[in-house]
Amino acid sequence: MTSNKINLLDFDRKAFEAFFTERGEKAFRATQMLKWIHQLYVDDFDAMTNLSKSLRQQLLEQTEIRLPEIVADQQSQDGTRKWLLRLDSGNCIETVFIPESGRGTLCVSSQVGCTLNCSFCSTAQQGFNRNLTTGEIIAQLLVANRALGRDPKGERVITNVVMMGMGEPLLNYDNVLPALNLMMDDFGYGLSWRRVTVSTAGVVPMMDKLHQAMNVSLAVSLHATNDALRDELVPINRKYPIKELMEACRRFVGDDTRKRVTIEYVMLDGVNDSLEDARALMKVLRGVPNKINLIPFNPFPNSPYRSSPQERINAFRDVLMSAGYNTVTRKTRGDDIDAACGQLAGKVMDRTRRSLRNIAVVNGGA
Ligand code: SAH
Repeated sequence: MTSNKINLLDFDRKAFEAFFTERGEKAFRATQMLKWIHQLYVDDFDAMTNLSKSLRQQLLEQTEIRLPEIVADQQSQDGTRKWLLRLDSGNCIETVFIPESGRGTLCVSSQVGCTLNCSFCSTAQQGFNRNLTTGEIIAQLLVANRALGRDPKGERVITNVVMMGMGEPLLNYDNVLPALNLMMDDFGYGLSWRRVTVSTAGVVPMMDKLHQAMNVSLAVSLHATNDALRDELVPINRKYPIKELMEACRRFVGDDTRKRVTIEYVMLDGVNDSLEDARALMKVLRGVPNKINLIPFNPFPNSPYRSSPQERINAFRDVLMSAGYNTVTRKTRGDDIDAACGQLAGKVMDRTRRSLRNIAVVNGGA
């Protein structure tokens, strides 16, 4: 049942300050609350002993700290871990932890499903239900951090966050922004902007808006070097074609020499993986400070593509590297628990009826 209490997980520092000053409390209460909730993971107001009794009573009456329910917690052979979280109304989302040497990355979802319909992505097949609230986005960090604990030095195991789970973060800008603030707040998750990455399929106006609002790292899902192919793979390209997207990337970096846009490029067998494509990619990226991330395609039921063979991925990478492009091939992680890029399905009560259409097509062809 949805409750009509205020969920304090929706509040970033600014929202807490407004909440407290409206109630005649000092603004520094925001710091105390952030610490209780996001660093000590306390959800019982009575335990918040540095708040007065009457304030604790008010919080109890008017607010709550409402976390999604953990319905599955799976661990892959390679250490990748995936949580399935149930939201109000029965929808589920997924969040994935990827341990690597020297860092631990949490891959966070921003929407229940997705509206973008990219042809190589499993989330697209689920259709779309709704945007996540700020609280549901940040709850993914809270749940994963609490489960993973701290390393022997007392540091959090999650050192990086990528908004590369289900959904298009820049189409849920208003809720994503406070969540990013919480990730980077010293009394939230304390991550530097270099360790928080927003990944977008290319919502150009929102890229500019994000750039004006805060310092954060950006990844762009390019996947093709000409508009005809990109229109097919990433249909939002029809609205914001490659040239406009690259101009937005240049504006995002501006004259900040520390910044690079991560260019994501999924390797699809026979579709976008020729050496000619590699050379075209360099042309497209001219003037955009970048690092390139080649992603082997991860298959899912009824997916129309195959991954490029390893030799072709290597050859593609070598063309880019020998021209001086910083290029890495993303390791496929957690595929035994369907946690790899593009495999996150969750449980989406589709409101676009897209998944129904897909089922009809599949059945019709059988
Ligand atoms: N909507 C955002 C973030 C979600 S997807 C975006 O488009 O960037 C995160 C990354 O996984 C994107 O680069 C996406 O294109 C890629 N991806 C999606 N499906 C994939 C698949 N089946 N195999 C490999 N990568 C995939």
